Amino acid sequence: MSSRNIVYIREFDKFDDNGDIICRNTGCENLIKSPFRRYCSKECSKQFEKWYYHNFYWDRVRSDIFKRDNYTCQICRKKYPYTYRRKFARSRGLECDHIIPRSLYKKLGYRFDSLENKIKTITEFLHNHDNLRTLCKECHKKVTKEYLRSNVNASE
Ligand SMILES: [Zn+2]
Ligand SMILES: [Zn+2]
Repeated sequence: MSSRNIVYIREFDKFDDNGDIICRNTGCENLIKSPFRRYCSKECSKQFEKWYYHNFYWDRVRSDIFKRDNYTCQICRKKYPYTYRRKFARSRGLECDHIIPRSLYKKLGYRFDSLENKIKTITEFLHNHDNLRTLCKECHKKVTKEYLRSNVNASE
């Protein structure tokens, strides 16, 4: 799983039969309207960007998880200091862990071969808040080590 699997916002660009750009927002088929270059209106732009960043933009997703977990490691319960850079919470001591490891996406039947499948993989699995938790660096390391060890044993 690498960064090439991220869904870029431009992948949501839509065109009508004449090849003219229509509004990017889901379900909207209006032609774009100036000053917007990919939307018909401020509402559509706000709505779509909110949906996009909360689901597909990792810095946003991670920040949401840190906030939900009150900047506290979900294993050792230690709380860490954090700062906001631009609009996103960051912390030197904390990381965002995938409870079911990312590398299992294929085994779970998720695919990255079309936009529809990418959206499904990301919203249902990779960036699904239920599969994410805040861990401190040390606990994250331990969990990853244990997982790798049990995985080696399981495959032999
Ligand atoms: Zn629109
Ligand atoms: Zn911890």
